[in-house]
Amino acid sequence: MAKRYWNEKIECMEHSEMQKLQSERLVKQVKHVWDNVPYYRKKMEEKGVTPDDIKGIEDLHKLPFLSKADLRDAYPYGLLAEPLSNCVRIQSTSGTTGKRVVAFYTQHDIDLWEDCCARAITAVGGTNEDVCQVCYGYGLFTGGPGLNGGSHKVGCLTLPMSSGNTERQIQFMMDLGSTILCCTPSYAAYIGETLHDMGYTPDDIKLKAGIFGAEPWTEEMRHEIEKSLGIKAYDIYGLTETSGPGVSFECEEQTGMHINEDHFIAEIIDPDTGEVLPEGTKGELVFTSITKEAFPLLRYRTRDICVLSRKKCSCGRTLIKMTKPMGRSDDMLIIKGVNVFPSQIETVLIKDFKATPNYQIVVDRVGNADTFEIKIELSDDMFSDTIKDIATLEKKLSADIVQILGIKAKISLVEPKSIPRSEGKAVRVIDKRKLV
Ligand code: ADP
Ligand code: ZN
Repeated sequence: MAKRYWNEKIECMEHSEMQKLQSERLVKQVKHVWDNVPYYRKKMEEKGVTPDDIKGIEDLHKLPFLSKADLRDAYPYGLLAEPLSNCVRIQSTSGTTGKRVVAFYTQHDIDLWEDCCARAITAVGGTNEDVCQVCYGYGLFTGGPGLNGGSHKVGCLTLPMSSGNTERQIQFMMDLGSTILCCTPSYAAYIGETLHDMGYTPDDIKLKAGIFGAEPWTEEMRHEIEKSLGIKAYDIYGLTETSGPGVSFECEEQTGMHINEDHFIAEIIDPDTGEVLPEGTKGELVFTSITKEAFPLLRYRTRDICVLSRKKCSCGRTLIKMTKPMGRSDDMLIIKGVNVFPSQIETVLIKDFKATPNYQIVVDRVGNADTFEIKIELSDDMFSDTIKDIATLEKKLSADIVQILGIKAKISLVEPKSIPRSEGKAVRVIDKRKLV
């Protein structure tokens, strides 16, 4: 039986004990930041707060927020809390939503980060018997280096593949008997598609589990990936600002991700007012890093929208869980005045297609009116269907989109393999309005 926990003491710690640990670490961290980060100290002074006001987690709400705008403002060294001579690594965001942000790490920071990733790998059943194929991008992006380090800690035989060259990925997977796959969910779907295109089935590979994150994905997509690769697909979450993947991870229950609360205190706030919301309420996720040395962000607004829950988990972990983020508050499109998350569209498409289609959402503005088009790729089977069948599908999709969003989209069914595949984070939305 595989080891279930990487750090049982922490992962199954009594909640009150965890709060004590968090309080101690928070008090220390606030002092560290006050002493070493003039940018944040100024923010605290403006709010009239000093380290003496922070006696424990009950005082967390007194601290000012940090946002991505602060990170850009303070770029590159303004939030650094250690001399550069103590830092050993820089990583950077993938720049999905604007200018890149850089984060700094001491060796201790790297160790803790990799430890979080080791927890995630152990939670999906990973041990030193496993062969772990890491196809997240390596380099400045945190996906590859984070999971790579975690895989080493667990003792898996690690394949540092990075993304791309998908046929070679599959060849290695077969030749070397990979049992765990780590990549973005959109790349996992592409690997599944390529496996089948090459004439193989899941029986030809040894994969048992996948650790997929770095972008939003739906439950429907999870089922699709599980089917096409013959595995269990688990979610993992993180962001460069808090170190990278491994801030939270899924266990065998697959009902949300346990947050590594010994390193990160999570809050949910109302994105408009900043008010802290009670557990179980949907809102913006805010993290405070209580163990990081070089880049310790306090009350960092992630812009990711989700729900926290302390409901007992069957895996035995007591760490609080977060739901899959449904997207970032800034991923949300406002089309014809209606709020639209790409994940809502994905849910409709997968239901009507009974498969994960490749799709792209194209928004534009003609005169003063928004145009809204969803391009969906037909599969080879569908492509050979009669025109009548295709027209029926188009009508059904159109009706279902209206039902879920309340607005009409132009549905364009396009030829197989005509929408570009993603080897990293998928680009689902082309918003031409922003280019104007
Ligand atoms: P960028 O902001 O440029 O994409 P990162 O590469 O650091 O920078 O990505 C972090 C972001 O990726 C998170 O804030 C979140 O929006 C998204 N993300 C990471 N993991 C997940 C996940 N499991 N589900 C949904 N979104 C995720
Ligand atoms: Zn659990």
